[in-house]
Amino acid sequence: MRRFFAENLDIGSDTVLLTGDEARHIKTVLRMSEGDEVLLINGTGTECLAVITSLTDDSVALRIEDRQVCSADPAVTVTLIQCLPKQGKMEVIIQKCVELGVSRIIPAVSRRCVVKPDGRDGKLLRWQKVAQEAAKQCGRAKVPGIDRPSELAKLDLSAFDSVLIAYENEDENSLKAVLRSGNVKDNIAIVIGPEGGFEPAEVERVLACGGTAVSLGRRILRTETAGMAMLAQIMYELEQ
Ligand code: SAH
Repeated sequence: MRRFFAENLDIGSDTVLLTGDEARHIKTVLRMSEGDEVLLINGTGTECLAVITSLTDDSVALRIEDRQVCSADPAVTVTLIQCLPKQGKMEVIIQKCVELGVSRIIPAVSRRCVVKPDGRDGKLLRWQKVAQEAAKQCGRAKVPGIDRPSELAKLDLSAFDSVLIAYENEDENSLKAVLRSGNVKDNIAIVIGPEGGFEPAEVERVLACGGTAVSLGRRILRTETAGMAMLAQIMYELEQ
Protein backbone atom coordinates (compact mmCIF):
# COMPACT_ATOMS: atom_id res chain seq x y z
CA MET A 1 0.00 0.00 0.00
CA ARG A 2 1.20 3.52 -0.77
CA ARG A 3 2.72 5.44 2.14
CA PHE A 4 2.61 9.18 2.64
CA PHE A 5 4.16 11.56 5.09
CA ALA A 6 1.58 13.69 6.91
CA GLU A 7 3.35 16.34 8.93
CA ASN A 8 0.12 17.48 10.58
CA LEU A 9 -1.12 13.96 11.37
CA ASP A 10 -2.61 13.81 14.85
CA ILE A 11 -2.58 10.11 15.72
CA GLY A 12 -5.54 10.59 18.07
CA SER A 13 -7.73 12.33 15.50
CA ASP A 14 -10.15 10.59 13.10
CA THR A 15 -9.40 12.78 10.08
CA VAL A 16 -6.44 14.45 8.42
CA LEU A 17 -6.04 16.92 5.58
CA LEU A 18 -3.00 16.56 3.32
CA THR A 19 -1.74 19.57 1.36
CA GLY A 20 1.44 20.39 -0.59
CA ASP A 21 3.62 17.76 -2.29
CA GLU A 22 1.96 14.69 -0.80
CA ALA A 23 -1.55 15.88 -1.81
CA ARG A 24 -0.30 16.66 -5.31
CA HIS A 25 1.32 13.26 -5.54
CA ILE A 26 -1.91 11.47 -4.54
CA LYS A 27 -4.15 13.46 -6.84
CA THR A 28 -2.11 14.41 -9.89
CA VAL A 29 0.62 11.81 -10.12
CA LEU A 30 -1.12 8.68 -8.81
CA ARG A 31 -4.65 9.79 -9.73
CA MET A 32 -6.08 8.18 -6.63
CA SER A 33 -9.72 8.76 -5.77
CA GLU A 34 -12.30 8.64 -2.99
CA GLY A 35 -12.37 5.29 -1.22
CA ASP A 36 -8.70 4.48 -1.95
CA GLU A 37 -6.65 3.43 1.05
CA VAL A 38 -3.17 4.67 2.01
CA LEU A 39 -0.79 4.46 4.95
CA LEU A 40 0.12 7.69 6.71
CA ILE A 41 3.16 8.35 8.88
CA ASN A 42 4.20 11.46 10.75
CA GLY A 43 7.69 10.40 11.76
CA THR A 44 6.91 9.30 15.30
CA GLY A 45 6.64 5.52 14.85
CA THR A 46 2.91 4.89 14.47
CA GLU A 47 1.41 4.35 11.04
CA CYS A 48 -2.23 4.96 10.23
CA LEU A 49 -4.39 3.22 7.69
CA ALA A 50 -6.54 5.94 6.10
CA VAL A 51 -9.18 6.14 3.39
CA ILE A 52 -9.55 9.11 1.03
CA THR A 53 -12.85 10.90 1.63
CA SER A 54 -12.50 13.88 -0.74
CA LEU A 55 -9.99 15.60 -3.02
CA THR A 56 -9.70 19.22 -4.15
CA ASP A 57 -7.11 20.81 -6.45
CA ASP A 58 -4.62 21.23 -3.62
CA SER A 59 -5.75 19.05 -0.74
CA VAL A 60 -6.77 15.50 0.10
CA ALA A 61 -9.01 14.69 3.06
CA LEU A 62 -8.75 11.28 4.69
CA ARG A 63 -10.44 9.33 7.47
CA ILE A 64 -8.19 7.32 9.77
CA GLU A 65 -9.38 3.72 10.06
CA ASP A 66 -6.64 2.04 12.04
CA ARG A 67 -3.37 2.74 13.87
CA GLN A 68 -0.43 0.40 14.40
CA VAL A 69 3.14 0.52 15.65
CA CYS A 70 5.42 0.04 12.65
CA SER A 71 7.40 -3.21 12.74
CA ALA A 72 10.04 -1.90 10.31
CA ASP A 73 11.51 0.47 12.88
CA PRO A 74 14.63 -1.04 14.43
CA ALA A 75 14.70 -2.59 17.89
CA VAL A 76 18.28 -1.39 18.40
CA THR A 77 18.96 2.34 18.69
CA VAL A 78 22.04 3.39 16.74
CA THR A 79 23.20 6.98 16.35
CA LEU A 80 25.67 7.64 13.55
CA ILE A 81 28.21 10.35 14.34
CA GLN A 82 29.53 11.02 10.84
CA CYS A 83 32.44 13.38 10.30
CA LEU A 84 31.52 15.61 7.38
CA PRO A 85 32.50 14.05 4.05
CA LYS A 86 33.23 15.93 0.85
CA GLN A 87 30.46 17.47 -1.24
CA GLY A 88 27.32 15.48 -1.87
CA LYS A 89 28.29 12.30 -0.03
CA MET A 90 26.28 13.12 3.09
CA GLU A 91 23.00 12.66 1.25
CA VAL A 92 23.94 9.15 0.14
CA ILE A 93 25.11 8.33 3.67
CA ILE A 94 21.81 9.54 5.15
CA GLN A 95 19.69 7.69 2.62
CA LYS A 96 21.46 4.35 2.99
CA CYS A 97 21.87 4.52 6.75
CA VAL A 98 18.15 5.24 7.20
CA GLU A 99 17.43 2.11 5.14
CA LEU A 100 19.84 0.15 7.31
CA GLY A 101 18.10 1.22 10.52
CA VAL A 102 19.95 4.22 11.95
CA SER A 103 17.93 6.15 14.56
CA ARG A 104 19.71 9.50 14.51
CA ILE A 105 22.58 11.11 12.62
CA ILE A 106 24.93 13.70 14.09
CA PRO A 107 27.12 15.38 11.44
CA ALA A 108 30.44 16.17 13.11
CA VAL A 109 33.41 18.35 12.33
CA SER A 110 36.79 16.76 13.04
CA ARG A 111 40.32 18.02 12.42
CA ARG A 112 40.74 16.46 9.01
CA CYS A 113 37.33 17.44 7.64
CA VAL A 114 37.76 19.32 4.38
CA VAL A 115 34.18 20.59 4.38
CA LYS A 116 33.11 22.97 7.13
CA PRO A 117 29.45 23.73 7.87
CA ASP A 118 28.29 27.07 6.46
CA GLY A 119 26.09 27.80 9.49
CA ARG A 120 22.97 28.09 7.33
CA ASP A 121 19.99 25.79 7.61
CA GLY A 122 19.53 25.00 3.89
CA LYS A 123 21.68 21.91 3.89
CA LEU A 124 20.25 20.64 7.18
CA LEU A 125 16.70 20.97 5.87
CA ARG A 126 17.73 19.13 2.70
CA TRP A 127 19.30 16.33 4.80
CA GLN A 128 16.15 16.06 6.92
CA LYS A 129 14.08 15.75 3.74
CA VAL A 130 16.40 12.98 2.48
CA ALA A 131 15.87 11.13 5.79
CA GLN A 132 12.11 11.56 5.53
CA GLU A 133 12.00 10.25 1.95
CA ALA A 134 14.24 7.30 2.79
CA ALA A 135 12.12 6.37 5.83
CA LYS A 136 8.96 6.53 3.75
CA GLN A 137 10.46 4.46 0.95
CA CYS A 138 11.82 1.69 3.16
CA GLY A 139 8.69 1.29 5.26
CA ARG A 140 9.77 2.95 8.49
CA ALA A 141 7.34 5.12 10.41
CA LYS A 142 9.98 6.80 12.59
CA VAL A 143 12.01 9.37 10.72
CA PRO A 144 15.58 9.55 12.07
CA GLY A 145 16.54 13.01 13.25
CA ILE A 146 19.48 14.79 11.62
CA ASP A 147 21.20 17.13 14.07
CA ARG A 148 22.94 20.38 13.34
CA PRO A 149 26.69 19.75 12.80
CA SER A 150 28.76 19.68 16.02
CA GLU A 151 32.47 19.73 16.76
CA LEU A 152 33.59 16.14 17.33
CA ALA A 153 35.93 17.31 20.10
CA LYS A 154 33.04 18.86 22.03
CA LEU A 155 30.37 16.20 21.55
CA ASP A 156 28.87 14.92 24.78
CA LEU A 157 28.93 11.13 24.48
CA SER A 158 27.65 10.41 28.00
CA ALA A 159 24.06 9.76 26.89
CA PHE A 160 25.06 6.63 24.96
CA ASP A 161 25.40 3.18 26.57
CA SER A 162 28.05 2.11 24.05
CA VAL A 163 30.25 4.23 21.79
CA LEU A 164 32.11 2.43 18.99
CA ILE A 165 34.62 4.45 17.00
CA ALA A 166 35.66 2.92 13.68
CA TYR A 167 39.40 3.45 13.58
CA GLU A 168 41.43 2.60 10.52
CA ASN A 169 44.55 1.98 12.66
CA GLU A 170 42.85 -0.41 15.10
CA ASP A 171 44.11 -3.94 14.55
CA GLU A 172 43.11 -5.78 17.71
CA ASN A 173 39.39 -5.25 18.27
CA SER A 174 37.25 -6.28 15.34
CA LEU A 175 33.68 -5.01 15.27
CA LYS A 176 32.55 -8.62 15.02
CA ALA A 177 34.36 -9.66 18.22
CA VAL A 178 33.15 -6.57 20.08
CA LEU A 179 29.53 -7.18 19.06
CA ARG A 180 29.76 -10.85 20.04
CA SER A 181 31.30 -10.08 23.44
CA GLY A 182 27.85 -9.21 24.79
CA ASN A 183 29.18 -5.93 26.14
CA VAL A 184 27.57 -3.67 23.55
CA LYS A 185 24.43 -2.21 25.05
CA ASP A 186 21.62 -0.32 23.41
CA ASN A 187 21.70 2.71 22.88
CA ILE A 188 24.75 2.72 20.65
CA ALA A 189 26.71 5.52 19.00
CA ILE A 190 29.04 4.77 16.08
CA VAL A 191 31.69 7.30 15.06
CA ILE A 192 33.06 7.47 11.50
CA GLY A 193 35.98 9.64 10.42
CA PRO A 194 36.25 11.83 7.30
CA GLU A 195 38.24 10.94 4.14
CA GLY A 196 41.50 11.80 5.87
CA GLY A 197 40.75 9.60 8.90
CA PHE A 198 41.11 10.47 12.59
CA GLU A 199 43.97 12.11 14.41
CA PRO A 200 45.09 9.86 17.30
CA ALA A 201 44.03 12.47 19.89
CA GLU A 202 40.47 12.37 18.57
CA VAL A 203 40.32 8.61 19.08
CA GLU A 204 41.91 8.93 22.53
CA ARG A 205 39.25 11.37 23.66
CA VAL A 206 36.48 8.96 22.63
CA LEU A 207 38.25 6.14 24.48
CA ALA A 208 38.61 8.37 27.56
CA CYS A 209 34.83 8.88 27.44
CA GLY A 210 34.33 5.09 27.68
CA GLY A 211 34.26 4.35 23.94
CA THR A 212 35.81 1.37 22.13
CA ALA A 213 37.90 1.54 18.95
CA VAL A 214 36.96 -1.10 16.41
CA SER A 215 38.31 -2.34 13.10
CA LEU A 216 35.95 -2.95 10.21
CA GLY A 217 38.28 -5.45 8.58
CA ARG A 218 41.45 -5.65 6.55
CA ARG A 219 40.50 -3.16 3.90
CA ILE A 220 40.22 0.61 4.28
CA LEU A 221 36.67 1.62 3.46
CA ARG A 222 35.66 5.01 2.18
CA THR A 223 33.99 7.20 4.77
CA GLU A 224 30.61 6.77 3.05
CA THR A 225 30.96 2.97 3.10
CA ALA A 226 32.14 2.65 6.70
CA GLY A 227 28.90 3.70 8.46
CA MET A 228 26.80 1.50 6.20
CA ALA A 229 29.04 -1.51 6.79
CA MET A 230 28.99 -0.94 10.52
CA LEU A 231 25.21 -0.55 10.69
CA ALA A 232 24.65 -3.69 8.63
CA GLN A 233 26.85 -5.68 10.99
CA ILE A 234 25.21 -4.25 14.11
CA MET A 235 21.71 -5.04 12.85
CA TYR A 236 22.82 -8.54 11.81
CA GLU A 237 24.23 -9.28 15.26
CA LEU A 238 21.86 -7.43 17.58
CA GLU A 239 18.47 -7.14 15.91
CA GLN A 240 16.18 -10.12 16.63
N1 SAH B 1 42.70 8.10 5.04
C1 SAH B 1 42.66 7.06 5.98
C2 SAH B 1 41.34 6.27 5.86
C3 SAH B 1 40.15 7.00 6.25
S1 SAH B 1 38.75 6.06 5.90
C4 SAH B 1 43.80 6.09 5.73
O1 SAH B 1 44.23 6.00 4.60
O2 SAH B 1 44.18 5.42 6.68
C5 SAH B 1 37.48 7.04 6.61
C6 SAH B 1 36.91 6.50 7.91
O3 SAH B 1 36.22 5.28 7.67
C7 SAH B 1 37.90 6.19 8.99
O4 SAH B 1 38.28 7.32 9.75
C8 SAH B 1 37.15 5.18 9.84
O5 SAH B 1 36.25 5.81 10.70
C9 SAH B 1 36.39 4.41 8.80
N2 SAH B 1 37.10 3.21 8.32
C10 SAH B 1 37.40 2.91 7.04
N3 SAH B 1 37.98 1.69 6.94
C11 SAH B 1 38.06 1.22 8.21
C12 SAH B 1 38.52 -0.02 8.76
N4 SAH B 1 39.06 -0.97 8.03
N5 SAH B 1 38.43 -0.18 10.12
C13 SAH B 1 37.89 0.79 10.88
N6 SAH B 1 37.42 1.96 10.42
C14 SAH B 1 37.49 2.18 9.09
